[in-house]
Amino acid sequence: MKKRQQQDRTVNAAVKNTNENRSGVKTFKGPGLRKENIPNPKHKRNKWRNIRWAILLFFNVLFFASFYFDIQVLEGSLSASRLLGFHLIDPFAAIQVILSSRILMVNLVIGTVTVFIIYIVLGGRTFCSWVCPYHWLAELGEKINLFLKKRKIVRSHSFDRKFRYLFYALFLILALITGFTVFETINPVSAISRSIVYGPSLLLIWVVALLVFEILYSRRAWCRYFCPVGVSYQLIGLLAPLRVKWNKENCSNCKRCQNVCLVPHVLKDSVNKGTKEYVDSGACTRCGLCIDICDDEALEFSLKYLDKII
Ligand code: SF4
Ligand code: SF4
Repeated sequence: MKKRQQQDRTVNAAVKNTNENRSGVKTFKGPGLRKENIPNPKHKRNKWRNIRWAILLFFNVLFFASFYFDIQVLEGSLSASRLLGFHLIDPFAAIQVILSSRILMVNLVIGTVTVFIIYIVLGGRTFCSWVCPYHWLAELGEKINLFLKKRKIVRSHSFDRKFRYLFYALFLILALITGFTVFETINPVSAISRSIVYGPSLLLIWVVALLVFEILYSRRAWCRYFCPVGVSYQLIGLLAPLRVKWNKENCSNCKRCQNVCLVPHVLKDSVNKGTKEYVDSGACTRCGLCIDICDDEALEFSLKYLDKII
């Protein structure tokens, strides 16, 4: 919690360091080389968000359509599914099943390896922002939270990000001890996914409670501090070449990218310290919100290691 508060203070300090010069143009301090914000008039503010939401909607509707019309394109739900007959299994769910059943099923291994390969190509936590329906609902909740915060109706509270890793370990241990995939009984991701496909379940009450908690108490709390599902994808993301690239020459140090980011600490080495050209943290969900907001066009999606070859 301390680390997080310290980081928030860094972002706030950077914003407070704002000066307004005689011509009324705002300038900011930081490692970026641009002295002032120079918006590209052709910059599209919600480009990546709109593409991302369309893809997220497409896959979740495809789950429903495959079941409802029996077209067998994408069967199952986000925990375990079959895409055109190929098994896909969420890595965290797969480890829980292996630990609880103590059996290594071939389909489970194939499904996990397939997901592993897909997300190395796509960028790890792209699962969170491009596929997960809870992420989408939480993004809408975040807008309400920010609206209420602006009017000083709610205050922001943070937690230690390590809770996600603790939850990850805790639910794996519980699966091993109880022989039961305990997390799946409270997993909001599969609860929503299954409700989309098979109809609403009582678990949706838990999902609504989580959203209310995020709106009234802690911005994006589940995805930021607690969700263990994203941890597997975070580890995969460390190997994925698709990353956000920071262009020092274009950056005017405004820090708006950190204000919109689910995990603002991942931009620290670039926009706060100027020591990294790429966002290397696996926690980055490749959501593109930072790219959308940066009208200086200092951020873009790029393939680390491969961009110099291709
Ligand atoms: S939004 Fe763009 S210009 Fe502003 S700090 Fe971030 S990268 Fe730099
Ligand atoms: S760094 Fe950018 S792409 Fe990554 S999570 Fe933050 S806003 Fe999204």
